[in-house]
Amino acid sequence: MRILRYILPALLVAPLFSQPAASILLRPGRSASQPVDEEYTKKIREYTTETFFNSPLTDYLPASKTVPTPKAVLGDVAGAPGILPYSADVYRYMRMLEKASPRVKVVTIGKTEEGREMIAVAVASEKLIASLDENRARLAKLADPRTIKLDDTEAEKLIAASTPIYYITGTIHSPETGAPTALMELAYRLTVDESPYIQAIRENTITLITPVVEVDGRDRMVDIYKWHLANPGKQWPSLIYWGHYVAHDNNRDSMGLTLQLTRNVLNTFVGWRAQVLHDLHESVAYLYDNTVGDGPYNAWIDPILADEWQMMGWNNVSEMTKFGMPGVFTHGTFDTWSPSYLMFIAAMHNGVSRLYETFGNGGADTEERTLRPAEYARTWYKQNPPLPKTKWSQRNNNNYEQTGLLTALAYFSANKQVFLRNFYLKAKRSIEKPATAGPAAYVFAADDPRLGAQADLLRMLQDQGCEISRASDAFTVMMPAKKAPARGGRGGRGAAADDTASTDGAEKKPEEKPKPQPKTFPAGSYIVRMDQPYSRIADTLLDYQYWAANDPQKSIYDDTGWTFGELGNVQVARVTDVKILDAPMTMVKGSVQAKGGISGDGDIALINHNADNALITLRYRFPQATFDAAEEPFEAAGHKFNRGSFIVRGAATGDLGKAAAELGIQAYAASAAPTVKTHPIRAARIAIMHTWLSTQAEGWWRLEFDRLNIPYDYINTQTVSKSSDLRGKYDVIIFAPGARGNPQTIVDGLSMFGNPLPWKVTPETPNLAKTDETDDMRPGLGWTGVANLQDFVRKGGLLITANDTVNFAVTFGFNPGVSIAPATRLKVTGSALRSKLVDTASPIVYGYNDNFAIFASTPPILNISNTIGGGGGRRGGPEGSERPTGRGTADDPDVPQGRTPAEAPEDPKAEAWEATPLTNEQLRNPVSVIPPAARPRVVLRYGNASDLLVSGLLDGGTELAQHAAVIDSPYGQGHVVLFSNNPFWRAETKGSYFLVFNAILNFDNLNAGRKLAEK
Ligand SMILES: [Zn+2]
Repeated sequence: MRILRYILPALLVAPLFSQPAASILLRPGRSASQPVDEEYTKKIREYTTETFFNSPLTDYLPASKTVPTPKAVLGDVAGAPGILPYSADVYRYMRMLEKASPRVKVVTIGKTEEGREMIAVAVASEKLIASLDENRARLAKLADPRTIKLDDTEAEKLIAASTPIYYITGTIHSPETGAPTALMELAYRLTVDESPYIQAIRENTITLITPVVEVDGRDRMVDIYKWHLANPGKQWPSLIYWGHYVAHDNNRDSMGLTLQLTRNVLNTFVGWRAQVLHDLHESVAYLYDNTVGDGPYNAWIDPILADEWQMMGWNNVSEMTKFGMPGVFTHGTFDTWSPSYLMFIAAMHNGVSRLYETFGNGGADTEERTLRPAEYARTWYKQNPPLPKTKWSQRNNNNYEQTGLLTALAYFSANKQVFLRNFYLKAKRSIEKPATAGPAAYVFAADDPRLGAQADLLRMLQDQGCEISRASDAFTVMMPAKKAPARGGRGGRGAAADDTASTDGAEKKPEEKPKPQPKTFPAGSYIVRMDQPYSRIADTLLDYQYWAANDPQKSIYDDTGWTFGELGNVQVARVTDVKILDAPMTMVKGSVQAKGGISGDGDIALINHNADNALITLRYRFPQATFDAAEEPFEAAGHKFNRGSFIVRGAATGDLGKAAAELGIQAYAASAAPTVKTHPIRAARIAIMHTWLSTQAEGWWRLEFDRLNIPYDYINTQTVSKSSDLRGKYDVIIFAPGARGNPQTIVDGLSMFGNPLPWKVTPETPNLAKTDETDDMRPGLGWTGVANLQDFVRKGGLLITANDTVNFAVTFGFNPGVSIAPATRLKVTGSALRSKLVDTASPIVYGYNDNFAIFASTPPILNISNTIGGGGGRRGGPEGSERPTGRGTADDPDVPQGRTPAEAPEDPKAEAWEATPLTNEQLRNPVSVIPPAARPRVVLRYGNASDLLVSGLLDGGTELAQHAAVIDSPYGQGHVVLFSNNPFWRAETKGSYFLVFNAILNFDNLNAGRKLAEK
């Protein structure tokens, strides 16, 4: 007998802040008075492989006379074997629901890179759906408490009258395939189920659903699955392209906001003033709610959020444990440090971020699955662990996803006032930040030498929902005293001990305690005030990160540092002095733009090189015009110009001025060119080469080339192996990172056992278009490809490699004199590191000032030698030069007895970024000596151990400190440029892009300014 044993949650609501969270009070399960769709229910049970993989919430489907079930589109039930719907089918069903019921509303939230639609589906009671706008207006006031003057009483009235929004997103990771059908059925249940449990959700929460987040990747995944079904017994191609640009990383874009899906979800979450953003993934058995996860938590979240994670996570585990469903847990190894995950849009915008990992088979086949011992082991937080071995179906996955979500929605609905109040409180506390945790503001000075980069970063903050103000007058604030770098701190553990050994480890004398200093910022400086509702995201992105080398968390989930000012090469001042909030300023309306245009008269335009990324866009905007680079700094038209500055001829002044204005570039017209040595900078013909192993990391490069309108051909290792005249087609070939590190694999490709793996458009696989194609993904670059690349460089081409593809170039002999030392203690996990200019005359660093930050993750440690085959291994520290046993003290020479002492020649010495000078012995018959003009030229190096770390984690930093970061290697008539850092990463490294752009624009003049050794 079914009895309503508990009191309705509404009766429990206590006033104001004393209210504890209520547990779910309604019994889950079908309403006895509502008929069940017998046929559908039978299929659910048939496709569920064990009864305990189901719950009272999903082991039946309520029947409706008017509303179609997912079967109307799928032809079978959600999660049925062999069925994966395309995004269009999912949308069609959601629109059928909307048509059939006033409880559903479907909206378009934007388009993908390839033009596919993204949608959001709202499900709630008819009354709530009819009053979405009024509700949103109330939520908007709670979201921005300044509108109600931070008045808690007024807030309580709004809370009482409002309904919160719980936003669920499915299948951002395309091989994780279960969510769309689970969400179709979830939407149906929420629409038609008349059980008290579901009714309470429908009447107290607006459930918002984006069933497919990575739409381009979903449609490709369905293609691949159909290919698999049509080719039984064969191996199928891996999904090498998910989105148009990146694969798994599409979930790491919530800082840079460069992907359409991130922007669309952000705009929906912020625009609807939602309270929760809950992403669905599939990689862990059977349901891991990883928002509770493990430490370290992101250091900028409101502590209220940490509590909300615990509340929701443990409630989920608790409810599903009572259902007897195995493998449900919420504590685990996932740290919540990086704010780049899609769900973190909520964490950074006063909501609650959540993420499920459920279990999936990467398709809709039902299969026997075997887990690793660590996965099925019982632990303190996983009392009912997954089974070591079981048959698993997509229906099981759909049961888990829906059961988890329904219990979460029930808990959220029962506690809606708690979560709405927290939503308000988090916004209010964000506004109160200057007076509490601080800082008061971040300032972007009007005299920054890179105003284009500055505007670009400010626009990203605007896209995040931040308000930007501009000082109408100069203002002065007190800046905290600059602390001396902590010994041993910044270089990671052990840096202090080695510091004295570093070449510039000058002795530090005790100093007076430094005092706060006044600092004046000029009029026109931009101010990001922290007394605004979304101050938290700005603070997180602009502040510094420190991940302790001895942190107990050893499986670091993602990057550890991201400081946007540093990696963007933009000056950002963190101001704690609250007086700044009284400085004269106005809020910027519209998006921040750097001022640009052309002034003066004359046929020649002079443009200062400040490494602003728009400069390369300008070059390619006028491919027919003549651009020259000045090889020395100069002064003209009353202005100073850096080395590398552009001298433009042959572009119509009007057109150039228009482009410069649009791009935020200041040009000066002159009637005569300055008398300075120049060389041409051409609109080089570029190819970006990818492998068929992975296209993930190179996608971030491609994306920015597209955004900056730099034309390029997209080629792959197989086409290179077939192209004997690459130099005839290209000036520059970019081999971006992400080729999985091993040079041999780049040559070999995938395993040639088994059948061919096509990646191409066929009637069966129409959605593989708009990427690249091949009849067989397996073959790699091959030895002919290596030879073709070498031929390309020998004939004057430029090959650019970075991070792991550096290993490819070094291994196959593109870089005589460069070797990679194995790291023994070095640990760099997505960190910002300090660089130092080595050769300021190299075109690669045109426009740069010293000491900018670069991004590195497990960077190769590069050593330089003047001989072939030399220089491998590690450079000896001071212990390597210890004197042998003999007379005298440690730094005395030994003296043989009975003869006149001979003076020992000085040992050749070199810095870590230099080659050891050649000895006379090596020069006697210099067969291995690399001629001076063919030696690697080190352009940029890593900073000293004491100040190497800018943001993130650095351990064993002395292994990397002072070593070469960017090397220009001549090879034949051409060059190979090596980046130990990764210059293009998740739109976080915009300050490094121009190192690559300089190499491209100066590809045939990279030797400019080079000083050759005499011998
Ligand atoms: Zn995933």
